[in-house]
Amino acid sequence: MDEEKKSLNFLEQIIEEDLTNGLPQEKLRFRFPPEPNGYLHIGHAASICLNFGLGLRYNAPVNLRFDDTNPAKEEQEYVDAIKHDVEWLGFKWDKELYSSNYFQQLYDWTLELIKEGKAYVDNQSSEEMAKQKGTPTEVGTNSPNRDRSVEENLELFLKMKNGEFDEGSHVLRAKIDMKHVNMHMRDPIMYRILKKTHHRTGNDWCIYPMYDWTHGESDYLEQVSHSICTLEFKSHRDLYDWYVEQVYDASTLRPKQREFARRNLSYTVMSKRKLLQLVEEGVVNGWDDPRMPTISGLRRRGYTAESIKNFSNTAGISKRDNVTDVALLEHCIKDDLNKTAPRVLAVLDPVKVIITNYPEGKEELLDANYNDYAEGFGSRPVPFSREIYIEKEDFREEANKKFFRLKLGKEVRLKNAYIIKAESCIKNENGAITEIHCTYDEDSLSGSGSEASKRKVKGTLHWVSVKHAIQSEVRVYDRLFTDEAPDGHKETDFKEFINPDSLTIINAFVEPSLKTAKVLDRFQFQRLGYFCVDKDTTETNLVFNRTVPLRDSWAKMEK
Ligand code: ATP
Ligand code: MG
Repeated sequence: MDEEKKSLNFLEQIIEEDLTNGLPQEKLRFRFPPEPNGYLHIGHAASICLNFGLGLRYNAPVNLRFDDTNPAKEEQEYVDAIKHDVEWLGFKWDKELYSSNYFQQLYDWTLELIKEGKAYVDNQSSEEMAKQKGTPTEVGTNSPNRDRSVEENLELFLKMKNGEFDEGSHVLRAKIDMKHVNMHMRDPIMYRILKKTHHRTGNDWCIYPMYDWTHGESDYLEQVSHSICTLEFKSHRDLYDWYVEQVYDASTLRPKQREFARRNLSYTVMSKRKLLQLVEEGVVNGWDDPRMPTISGLRRRGYTAESIKNFSNTAGISKRDNVTDVALLEHCIKDDLNKTAPRVLAVLDPVKVIITNYPEGKEELLDANYNDYAEGFGSRPVPFSREIYIEKEDFREEANKKFFRLKLGKEVRLKNAYIIKAESCIKNENGAITEIHCTYDEDSLSGSGSEASKRKVKGTLHWVSVKHAIQSEVRVYDRLFTDEAPDGHKETDFKEFINPDSLTIINAFVEPSLKTAKVLDRFQFQRLGYFCVDKDTTETNLVFNRTVPLRDSWAKMEK
């Protein structure tokens, strides 16, 4: 195998083989087929990056197809959110399509199948049908309704369609083989009655086609060459092929279903049903809560499209189920923001410092680079004055030699500003430090070129000027679940593992340049981590989400 072949994933290899065996490249066509019953999550991102990635690689169209065959759970809100997310990730679909566009075609094909004796109406209870289905080791038995005449089937199916029967009373089944080794082939249901308004077809239909009957036919109608889905559909492949075979015309392309392993992520759940539960029960504040593994949640949290794509491609695709460490996702966003986010000053847990030899009433505007290590970021003015805030944990009265921060009698540099020395501190009745008194070296201003400005001191601290800082709300997130695999426990419901401390709200002080920051603007708060402006921000309340702290557990693990 040459180098190029080796670097292909197994799906690309399948496509390459098909091309080698005569499939013209211009026939390649892919699709991403979400059901609009919830918001997209980071697992869907894997499928999006895979399908649209194939489109880019082979210069082939990729459709966005809404698999909307269950009106009970689907809504326009979800359609809109899905489109927004795919666009935001930076992908362009060829056509926006809906399985519901094909309801009439599917119905017409069904009449043909009934006429050919390949489908029948069953009016047994679902329990009875389940019993007859058998087990993987035991063959099924035929339904007593299996041999209804074509005329009777046509009449009953028409009545189903016309709303003459109740929900659950009748289904239409494909007549395949109740003894088939594959359980999905044992006379699967093609249609059920659902008296619900569909978000697109309204009340036109009260029978709705099942997933299997719809999916392959939709792929076929759209002439999708490779229908890529997740492993749980592997056992459906026989049925997919059987359905396509019923309508296949030799002058057309026969779509091929292939499967890859779902993306699972540690410390979260990824099923839309479970995510919906978190939303409905108020565990989180909506689908776009920054703790959610949804694309909208990650975006609000501060993730970039680039970082999500990079994560999807780095984690890759696999043939077997596995769990990706959330640390990799965090690594990807840090890696991106490290290169792109301007660096600013903010203090999350403040203690006041008074610089006793700095003139009262004096203010300076210091010129501070947004990034000292890269070109092109520019700079902004940062006000300095006699009273500043630093982080509480950056000061100790006494500490050993490894504490490179502020301690009594020692010096540190204030980022972009002066060298200060701690002289004394004031405590309240509980012994907590309320004020630190320092002196500064007037000649030590960063960038001034003076001898003192080049003086090396061990630590550099971030700070903000008390008088100028903007008080703002910072939302600090921890994992939503305390367990690595919250839905991997048979005995315990996933909600038992919800982390009660997944959100901490902090009153922080940020530098005044952030006053004009816009929703979704991202910053590095120096020495603290990456933060982004939340949509809850108002004229009077600036709100930040912490995207990730600075320390990187993934990079450490890799070493
Ligand atoms: P969920 O179980 O979260 O509800 P789903 O499979 O029902 O997911 P769909 O809207 O049907 O969600 O999925 C659209 C496409 O995305 C499908 O092709 C599906 O296989 C794929 N997909 C869904 N979840 C994942 C995942 N965790 N990893 C990779 N692909 C996924
Ligand atoms: Mg689905």
